[in-house]
Amino acid sequence: MEVKLEQIKGIGPAWLRVLRNEGIWSTYDLVLRVPKSYEDFTIRSLSSAKDLEKLTVQGKVISALKENPYGKVHLTTFRVKINDIEAEVIAFNKSYLIKQISEGSEVLIKGVYHLYQKKIVANYIAKVTTQMPIKPVYKIEGMYDRNIQHIVSHIFEQDHVQIYEIIPKEFIDKYHLINRKEAYRKLHLPKNFDDIKEAERRFKYEEAFFLQLKLVANQLASSKRKPKLYHIEKVRDLIHRLPFELTMDQKQATNDIFKDFKRDYSGIRLIQGDVGSGKTVVALIASYAVVTANEQVAIMAPTTLLAEQHYHFFKSILKDLNIALLTQNTANKNQLKEEISKGNYDIVIGTQALIESDVVFKHLGFVVIDEQHKFGVDARQTLIEKGHAKDVLYLTATPIPRTLAMVSFGESNVSTIKEKPSQRQPVITKLMDSKNEQKVFDMITKTVLKKEHVFVIVPAITSDQVSDNIKTTQEKLTQLKLPLFVLHGQLSKDEQNQIMRDFKQSPGGVLLSTTMIEVGIDIPTATLMIILSAHQFGLAQLHQLRGRIGRGTLASTCYLVSEKQDLERLALMTKTNDGFVLSEYDLMARGPGDFIGAQQSGYLNFHFLDLSTDENILREAQKNVLSLFEKPDFDSNVRYQYLRKHIKDSLKI
Ligand code: ADP
Ligand code: MG
Repeated sequence: MEVKLEQIKGIGPAWLRVLRNEGIWSTYDLVLRVPKSYEDFTIRSLSSAKDLEKLTVQGKVISALKENPYGKVHLTTFRVKINDIEAEVIAFNKSYLIKQISEGSEVLIKGVYHLYQKKIVANYIAKVTTQMPIKPVYKIEGMYDRNIQHIVSHIFEQDHVQIYEIIPKEFIDKYHLINRKEAYRKLHLPKNFDDIKEAERRFKYEEAFFLQLKLVANQLASSKRKPKLYHIEKVRDLIHRLPFELTMDQKQATNDIFKDFKRDYSGIRLIQGDVGSGKTVVALIASYAVVTANEQVAIMAPTTLLAEQHYHFFKSILKDLNIALLTQNTANKNQLKEEISKGNYDIVIGTQALIESDVVFKHLGFVVIDEQHKFGVDARQTLIEKGHAKDVLYLTATPIPRTLAMVSFGESNVSTIKEKPSQRQPVITKLMDSKNEQKVFDMITKTVLKKEHVFVIVPAITSDQVSDNIKTTQEKLTQLKLPLFVLHGQLSKDEQNQIMRDFKQSPGGVLLSTTMIEVGIDIPTATLMIILSAHQFGLAQLHQLRGRIGRGTLASTCYLVSEKQDLERLALMTKTNDGFVLSEYDLMARGPGDFIGAQQSGYLNFHFLDLSTDENILREAQKNVLSLFEKPDFDSNVRYQYLRKHIKDSLKI
């Protein structure tokens, strides 16, 4: 029977306060607060111990305790006999030991063994009691771990907590999982590490199961709508009219979207493809199809400049459509908004200005969000909610590792463009010692004289730490007497846009910039990029930057200038132009935390599941959840009652 926390023996007002501070209000809350880690007290024998091994041993004190309280640290030493081996024990700042143990005591010692000196530097020494070999570590301020363990063990012994099994029995049996209550008991009161593993295996499955449940449920909840009646012949015509042949991957992505359109519920799709792989034209074809079905399209880009660029691209190809551009620079906004609400514009391209509440569509049927990771979840959602169904296309040039894509979008909702448009020449990347900087400056001049465009990227605007910054580099570049444009974050948005425009329109020129130009800028005559102090940048960022050149048919080169020549990381940039390879490297070097943290917060915070290793569990869980939803009696069978309750309480479907 479940009882109140204050009814548990041993819990007084002080502890109650501590627990409430931790958000623990019931015995159930307390049981859910599983240990953060474990200390291993499994007793070892010294005879097999290696030098500098961390271990726990049990033995008898065979000398008096000696103290040296005078130095900076208080030292206690004594000799101990462990089976047949004698060793010296040293402990720092444990002045209380002298009162607790003496010659003849049986003690438990945890520490580091120095094999050659037969010495144990101990961080834990206690008289032997009937202690568990594994000590849970709770890290609850104001209570000792043993206090908590004592309470939890009491709760389990007295059966003072109700824990229902929520995973359907068929899956518990299938994967030989222990039940929920047993798993919690084993996490709190493990007899050995196998107990912990067994419990963890169960909870990994549970986390995967609920994640999949949420994903599938969301998909089912996505709005029902009629299949989009786009005009396939007109779409074919458009594809023939394009100034280039689509790559295979572009065709595949386009087909994926059309399949989504044909279903009777709205769809979400992510297109991931390296910078310059041609995602925009896929979005254009899809948008056109939606317009032929008499619906409006909204396209949101992260910067004014990108929105303008898309606008011009769309206008140049979709000449017969009414296309609007809505950014902070737009004149007669109100009139434009009025026209949009009347349905007089087929496609509206803009920045975050699109999400404002007075932007209303007559029949918005499709939302495209470019460089989706640049927007917060709320901004994206606000725009999506303006549609009558929730058909969304996300575009991203930051490849997401596979498992992560699977859990955040559902695998079948991700299309990948790997292949680059064919006539394009790959960017050649070279490392260059900063001593040879002059060579680089010569190259800049040569390039600009050919009426091509050059980017020079530095890591800072002004800085005492970074020698390559806007200020210092601007002085050097001015001496070249070439058209020079300077861009950085301290300029106003209007100034930034104007500078980019001027640079683009100048017949050849140099743009000195911080990483501002990272996103989507398309200048086909940009053929040279110099990244100064390249070691300051992450691989993904360098790759994004590099994607700004080599977008036309001209050969392009990127120089990574650095005084550090030995960096394996930078060398990798010279070997591959594949953003996926680089992102995998980042994933390995920095762990999945980066991606998860950056991608979404909230529901990917797992306690047990590890996205980099538990792909199989996720796949199994996905299969299982899908099979559940197909069961005709899922809504009525008593065997699913706790699951249904859990879904209702926690998933808010
Ligand atoms: P991104 O995927 O980085 O958004 P874009 O869609 O901006 O790339 O495409 C980059 C450039 O490549 C654009 O100038 C675009 O017109 C061109 N492009 C796209 N697809 C092809 C293709 N199949 N063949 C040739 N050029 C293409
Ligand atoms: Mg783009």
